[in-house]
Amino acid sequence: MIVCKFGGSSVADAVQISKTQAIVKANPDRRIVVVSAPGKRDKEDDKITDLLYKCHNLASNDKDITAVWDKIRNRYLQIATVLDITSDLKEELISIKAHMMDKCSPDYAASRGEYLNAKLISLYFGFEFLDSAKVIRIGEHGEILPETYDLIKANVDPSKKYVVPGFYGLGPDGNIKTFSRGGSDITGSIYAKALNADIYENWTDVSGTYTCDPRITANARQVPEITYKEMREMAYLGANVFHEEAIAPARQANITINIKNTNAPDEAGTFINSQRDSSKDPVVGLAGKRRFRRITIEKYKLEDMHDLHLQLKKELGALGLIISFELKGIDTLNFYVKDEHMIDWDDLTSRLKANLGIEKVSYASGIAIIGIIGEGLTSSFKPLFKILAALTEAGIDIDNLNYGGSPISAVMAIADSSYEKAMDIIASVIA
Ligand code: ASP
Repeated sequence: MIVCKFGGSSVADAVQISKTQAIVKANPDRRIVVVSAPGKRDKEDDKITDLLYKCHNLASNDKDITAVWDKIRNRYLQIATVLDITSDLKEELISIKAHMMDKCSPDYAASRGEYLNAKLISLYFGFEFLDSAKVIRIGEHGEILPETYDLIKANVDPSKKYVVPGFYGLGPDGNIKTFSRGGSDITGSIYAKALNADIYENWTDVSGTYTCDPRITANARQVPEITYKEMREMAYLGANVFHEEAIAPARQANITINIKNTNAPDEAGTFINSQRDSSKDPVVGLAGKRRFRRITIEKYKLEDMHDLHLQLKKELGALGLIISFELKGIDTLNFYVKDEHMIDWDDLTSRLKANLGIEKVSYASGIAIIGIIGEGLTSSFKPLFKILAALTEAGIDIDNLNYGGSPISAVMAIADSSYEKAMDIIASVIA
């Protein structure tokens, strides 16, 4: 049995939805189809989920939602008309609009994007509709609650085929709760684990993962195979083909994930597994994040480092700053946080000195973080040396390098202004 999930661009309009139908029909094992809300049809277009959040925002501020709501409504009506689907869509839309006006929760508003699309697509395919609110249970912090798996098993008849909405379930208070953005990937992974699928196919608009974002460099190449660990690190460090939290359920059940392209279904795509032969391809990718600030603190006698570290996290957390990356020296700690313009850095300096007895605080802004990921980094320094040599030759200085913290990645900080050049150089080294 195959669980397949179609992302927003794969179900953005009637033409795309008919492609998904052809894919599903081509293999009778494709029995569970998870769908996103309609995504962008072109660069300038709106994602339905964004429009739903916008609408919710307007409604909760007592502003007129007509213009935004009509865009949402028309997208669905157009899909239903072109695909000739008979449904109670109009009544559903009226009821959702009423909930919006009644100041429903943002999660409820956003979830309707997947809900409506799954309903329409189930009718179009002639499959059952299973509402994820019936089976997916999400904890306070977005975690998947264990009863979810039993509920799915109990509600899925193995002789039937289903279309289910991604992105949401029920929260601890019994109301609709969504995962974080892009969370339909998580839904697919959950169904795959619950039903012990042979494979979890994740259909998108690219033929798998690339060593690097192809919009940044022509040296990016498609990766045929990647491990769960590598994929998670790629996602954490900024690659956005697959949601980082969607790895865990499939990994726990050892289910292969196959990322495939709805617009080129015959291409093999990328397979995500627990192991791969890294001898030919030691490094599978690089990912990056931009606009960071380095906070360097110095304190003589850092034997109380552990406590200091926790207190620091608290101080930064109180300002909404999350440490993305850190490097420790003997008397020095370097933290990389998003460069938020709203923050009074001088005030932070005074607080750190007064509350934590830190002697010196300094900052450097305009920093980008690049992660180089590959199981091959565990066994050899060679790939990293080649990369460092190429960067040095191009005159790109490395602000910091963290190698060995995770056995399968090296993370470096460089000047943000060199970001694209550095990505291009590294991509060509690992091409
Ligand atoms: N529709 C949601 C989003 O845009 C979830 C998803 O597509 O995975 O984030």
